[in-house]
Amino acid sequence: MLGSPYDERPWLDLYEGDLPSEIRPRHATMVELFADAVRANPDGLALTYFDGRLTFAELDDLSNGLARHLADSGVAPGDRVAVYLQNVPQFAIAVLAGWKAGAIVVPLNPMYRTHELTKILGDSRPEAVISSEQGWHDVVGGVATALEIDIAITTSELDLQTRYDPRLFSRSERRPAAGTVDLLAVARARSGERPPEISPQASDIALLVYTSGTSGVPKGATNTHGNVVFNAEGTALRLDEDTPGGIFALAPLFHITGLVVQFAAALAAGRQLDLAYRFEPGVVLDALAEHRPAFMVGPSTAYMALMNHAEVTPEHFASLKMVHSGGAPLPSAVVESFRERFGLYIRNGYGLTETTATATSVPLGKEAPVDAASGTLAVGVPTYNTVLRVVDEDGADLPVGEVGEIVIEGPMVVPAYWNKPDETAASIRDGRLHTGDVGFMDEQGWFYVVDRKKDMINASGFKVWPREVEDVLYGHPAVREAAVVGVPDAYRGETVKAFISLTRDSSATGEELVEHCKRQLAAYKYPRSVEILDELPKTATGKILRRQLRDAARAGE
Ligand code: AMP
Repeated sequence: MLGSPYDERPWLDLYEGDLPSEIRPRHATMVELFADAVRANPDGLALTYFDGRLTFAELDDLSNGLARHLADSGVAPGDRVAVYLQNVPQFAIAVLAGWKAGAIVVPLNPMYRTHELTKILGDSRPEAVISSEQGWHDVVGGVATALEIDIAITTSELDLQTRYDPRLFSRSERRPAAGTVDLLAVARARSGERPPEISPQASDIALLVYTSGTSGVPKGATNTHGNVVFNAEGTALRLDEDTPGGIFALAPLFHITGLVVQFAAALAAGRQLDLAYRFEPGVVLDALAEHRPAFMVGPSTAYMALMNHAEVTPEHFASLKMVHSGGAPLPSAVVESFRERFGLYIRNGYGLTETTATATSVPLGKEAPVDAASGTLAVGVPTYNTVLRVVDEDGADLPVGEVGEIVIEGPMVVPAYWNKPDETAASIRDGRLHTGDVGFMDEQGWFYVVDRKKDMINASGFKVWPREVEDVLYGHPAVREAAVVGVPDAYRGETVKAFISLTRDSSATGEELVEHCKRQLAAYKYPRSVEILDELPKTATGKILRRQLRDAARAGE
């Protein structure tokens, strides 16, 4: 399109002094990338987990053993392997083993309960599921049995009380749940064996990550090996030789940021990944002081929580050379106070599950500007080989400074949603992802995200889709109508609020409805407040006016 400000790519000037704006991937698949990392540095540390350590060679052997087990149990190339684990070393072993068996890995948030798991596993139909023992007993086992998933592998995640147990890799006496085998036991027993003979391609799907996408219906983004390699190598390039040290996993590994910008990037850079079970500010600060990483990435809310911890000192962050924030809006006030107190500049970055995490970043040596009118901090500029556009309702490019939908094209955009041709056609056309995010580009080529077209609620980077919570609310006999909206929250950014009208003669209370949701949904999803109205506002055709309720709730805050 001649004359389009996006085709002119003004942001390329901002790359001056940074890395090249175009790169070529060095590997076709994550299997090849990992094999090279092992060859280059077999005895180097790949993972730390409190007092536990794994070298690249050990990670290779254990994932070979588990891959053999998967293949011999019947997992074939293209089959799905679901993983329900926190940030523990077994997560890395499971993902690598899945890839080595040619499988598609389906990461699951370990906060998911029966409702979510039934939907996701019912859609992805995995042949094997790998779960924490606790998770298996609580929810996964029941769903896996109902869906007749035959291959079940469990593992004991060390909880926070036993986190300093150094015997993680030497325990031999495990008693896995009935019908399951123990992950570390099979991986160790077969670790001397060669992995299955498979030859994946860059276009093969590496990850199936469930997200609402732009329409609110949870669906699997098909991140290919090529997508993952591209963003992993892109991140690794930023960790140059003058910046020794590992990557701290602040974000959860089941989220695309954790998987790609932490885990896959650490493999691409041949650096150690420091794991700390799950985000717990005090534990994270201890782990930072102990492992002294160079790089860390997480949602803005994690930085706020660390900053506000009673015992935090600049010493905790002394080893860090680069800190990135992504997945949720980053207030410029947080950037400023982090810099003032710890001397570190937080780099904003924007992306989606469908862009395999990163689509924009702040070039090295530059700082993201703040839009004077709105106070919004820029999310950066398009990364390597990538173009962002701002388009109108008809998909036509808008002039500089005008607000519209952000569209992304680049080598990290997923080709499709899993088994959802209509959803794919609605959002991914000609290699362009229609994000549902609303923003603009300035003269220099910085992008700003100002709002969302979709109704998604972003609670600390965890995405909550109103429709899903409404579905659960509608499952309560007292609920006649339900509308769920996001309201501002000082700690989480946004939190969940429900508007309800009750069935006749019902006297259910808000507390009862909250309890009902708590039983069925992950903790970040249940409504923090419920407002009961006689009637919910609706359009002439009877559609509940969720937006109107949201705006009213925000105005009343
Ligand atoms: P997910 O697929 O879970 O990574 O969620 C992607 C969504 O998170 C995007 O569509 C945005 O709405 C939001 N998001 C990600 N990064 C940022 C950012 N830096 N600033 C504002 N919103 C963001």
